[in-house]
Amino acid sequence: MEKTILVTGGTGYIGAWVVKKLLDKGYKVILTLRNKSKIQSLVFLKEISEKFAEKIEFVEADLLKEGDFDEPASRSDAIIHVASPFKLTFKDPVAELINPAVKGTQNVLNAANKSERVKKVVLTSSVAAVHGDNKDMTELGIEEFTEENFNQTSSVKHQPYSFSKVTAEKEAWKIAEQQDKWKLVVINPSFVMGPSLVGATNSGSFSFMTDLLSGKYSMAAPELYFGFVDVRDVAEAHILALENDDADGRHILSVGVMNIKQLSDLIEKLYPNRFKLPKAKAPKFLLLMIGWSFGLTTKFVSRNIGWPLKLSNKKSIEKLGLKYAPTEKIFKDMIDYMIENKIIN
Ligand code: NDP
Repeated sequence: MEKTILVTGGTGYIGAWVVKKLLDKGYKVILTLRNKSKIQSLVFLKEISEKFAEKIEFVEADLLKEGDFDEPASRSDAIIHVASPFKLTFKDPVAELINPAVKGTQNVLNAANKSERVKKVVLTSSVAAVHGDNKDMTELGIEEFTEENFNQTSSVKHQPYSFSKVTAEKEAWKIAEQQDKWKLVVINPSFVMGPSLVGATNSGSFSFMTDLLSGKYSMAAPELYFGFVDVRDVAEAHILALENDDADGRHILSVGVMNIKQLSDLIEKLYPNRFKLPKAKAPKFLLLMIGWSFGLTTKFVSRNIGWPLKLSNKKSIEKLGLKYAPTEKIFKDMIDYMIENKIIN
């Protein structure tokens, strides 16, 4: 019998690629979305609703509304729970980030509990649930972050997005351990890059790249290191986690770590003189003084700027069997997409 997979967040950057891969592989997909009017406004959704008319179903559900996922989960063999806000700017972190992440996870996993059919849940967490500040690595005295690490330094006030992800993932493990009907497998991507199927969305991936290419850091770039990974590989990791019976626990996804200046140099090589990219690193003392004008708090600057970062991708390669796209391709495909779709001039 063909399997039915419930996907949350399929209107978003990562979720749309997950949905595409599932449909291409012949699965039936129930895509939950807040408002069905998006089907007409997003070309991707309209296209799959026509091309895969027999295979895709759209059901309205809100992460914040208890019970919204119960009915679609009752008809699904597995759930891939991607939906959660990833915004770099916000006014109320509790309402905009933490509640949808944590209550959403509770609602979706409670729906799995009520379903007679669900056997597996794949959850999109983040490396933000593995570590908070980059300085954590040095303070913990470790050489790299692995799946054993849980973020212990974020809070509602400091790195609230990271706090939303670690709190939601811990809640997921708690709910999973209280039952034995379904298995939880977690994917922890680093910064996701690459082309989109659904425009720029609200994803921090696109706001960061738009800021970088449009000259936000043209004076000088903060020495901030981050891991990155191709969005198509992130989607593939979700499929591998779904299909592989041995897939277990958490999986950090990262093809490499770079700072903003190193990334800018790579983009300059790919697109000479095309964008207003930073030519130098911003001195930390300066960021401590004027970082607020970039939205950076003193605590964020002191605990992140200049601190090295290493993320182990060993388990994703050895246990999940993920093959990573090369760095240049990730950024070339993303920026070409942004130019073609006029996300950037
Ligand atoms: P997007 O903003 O593109 O997608 C977010 C998705 O969540 C959208 O489909 C959105 O639906 C949905 N959503 C948000 N709030 C609600 C709600 N209240 N009820 C129902 N759906 C809601 O972001 P990404 O694709 O980048 O992020 C997807 C996931 O991946 C998140 O869990 C994020 O934390 C995680 N992640 C992302 C990384 C990245 O670099 N992009 C890195 C690591 C993890 P709607 O269309 O209705 O707004």
